[in-house]
Amino acid sequence: MNHYDAIIIGAGFSGLYQLHFLRENLGLNVKILETADNVGGTWFWNRYPGSRCDTESKAYTYYFSKELYEDWNWSERYPTQPEIEKYLNYVCDKLDLRKDIEFQTKVTDLIYDNERKTWTTLTNNKEKFSSKFIISAVGCLSYANMPVIPNKNKFQGEIYHTGDWPKIEPELANKNIGIIGTGSTGIQVIPEVAKLAKKLTVFQRTPNYSVPANNYKLTQNQKNQANIDFHKSKELMFQHRGGHPWTHSHISAKATEVTKRNALYEKAWANGGLSFRDTFSDLSIDADSNLTASQFIINKIKKIIKNPDTAAMLTDFDHPFGSKRPPIDTNYYETFNRKNVDLINIRKDPIKSFKTNGITTEKNDYELEVLIFATGFDALTGTLLNMNIIGDNNISLKNIWQTGPKTNLGLLVPNFPNLFLITGPGSPAVLTNMPRAIEQHVEWIGNCIKYMLKNDYDSIQTTVEAADDWTENVQEAVKDNFFLSAKHSWYLGGNIPGKPKIFIPYAGGLNKYREICDLVAQNDYRGCIFTKTT
Ligand code: NAP
Repeated sequence: MNHYDAIIIGAGFSGLYQLHFLRENLGLNVKILETADNVGGTWFWNRYPGSRCDTESKAYTYYFSKELYEDWNWSERYPTQPEIEKYLNYVCDKLDLRKDIEFQTKVTDLIYDNERKTWTTLTNNKEKFSSKFIISAVGCLSYANMPVIPNKNKFQGEIYHTGDWPKIEPELANKNIGIIGTGSTGIQVIPEVAKLAKKLTVFQRTPNYSVPANNYKLTQNQKNQANIDFHKSKELMFQHRGGHPWTHSHISAKATEVTKRNALYEKAWANGGLSFRDTFSDLSIDADSNLTASQFIINKIKKIIKNPDTAAMLTDFDHPFGSKRPPIDTNYYETFNRKNVDLINIRKDPIKSFKTNGITTEKNDYELEVLIFATGFDALTGTLLNMNIIGDNNISLKNIWQTGPKTNLGLLVPNFPNLFLITGPGSPAVLTNMPRAIEQHVEWIGNCIKYMLKNDYDSIQTTVEAADDWTENVQEAVKDNFFLSAKHSWYLGGNIPGKPKIFIPYAGGLNKYREICDLVAQNDYRGCIFTKTT
């Protein structure tokens, strides 16, 4: 059995930086185990047509090394999946990480031995590793949600999930294609597939408020400016609750005179992107203010869509703006004006089953050669709970998280010594620009391990009390936010049948969260117990 100081699971943004940090700063012997045959994580699997990041390229990148930042040139305002995949390969090669990654290796079991203070890792290839530390870098959106539709094996067409898209691009041209799902992914894939398909049928359960991305190619001047602004952008992201490079608004929408308010919305709409939701300070907590944003977007959609029935379907919202992760788009609404695109309301006419050449709803039949599921993920806990993770005293993670995840800071789990979670449940994670949350976690974990080595500690474990307190804190932080009103949202586990309906990420802001984490570390990792073998 091969022994390592640390095993990291996953070779996406988190795993790559964690490997670099532990190897270069602490001189540890580290191995990444990765299911895919290359690096990329979410950007390896989500290679569907139109896949692109909603965060701007100048921000959706590592900031831990200025040299790494300056030596890479993004070509567009928002990076495409192929470009992010290339970027992560560039980082991997530049930092010489590949030699410490084992690809095509899926972790199936993690078992802790309290006497030896060691984890055993088992894989699908029947390999066995031992290590002092396990660091989960499995990503928040890595376990695809595939709805169960009866008679799937009868269907003679092709089925794809956007989160597990084949490396060899499927032939979609001139086919009858269906897409289920209109979240951030559906909104990206629909316009691209519409251009290829003979006919595209979109099966929508819930419409989403989408804002234009306003993507463009970056000029050399813009690239140079991003390099000049490196420290300024880093500081802005550091201060922002979501880790984005802009400042928070301090103006209330409802308190702003209507002409001025509309002018600010128009400006934000023309600018495009995720900053639209920061146009005013109270859109996520005040119903009247929120209504002004929803109404503005509804009016925009109705102006774009030619068919009033389609417009009505696309604006039949059951949740306030921003209560689900707001998507951004390129020609999403315009796509529904195409002659080859139909929109079907499956809330009114639910899908019943597959048939040999398509699917059947309660009232209709649809002939399809290809069906694409853009149905999202079992977010934040799905991948973790699909491994068999056994901690101290034979306690299984699956059992103790039956009623919802309990962590200290989203980083540590009681009874699971020396297991660290990067962007785990209970941390700001998916509510942020991910690379900022990832860098903060990688550095916190790395510094914690450094502290342990310095003090000759051989294990760290959070107390149950500290994890209970933090879990309460996570619920407290979201109680005034509209996030709780979108009952089917994946933030709440509402998209997965049987999943506990509990708000999972920490909504108090990455800036505040970072201060809390720093304080815990400065106070000798308050809430944690260390052991030392003498
Ligand atoms: P999602 O937001 O969970 O959307 C899934 C869609 O599938 C929803 O429209 C949902 O309808 C529908 N759906 C789920 N189960 C269904 C079922 N059984 N029957 C019919 N419809 C069903 O997933 P996503 O679009 O993949 O996005 C997930 C997250 O990934 C995003 O919120 C974002 O954080 C991230 N993402 C980021 C980017 C980016 O940065 N570019 C791109 C894509 C995704 P309901 O709403 O009715 O549940």
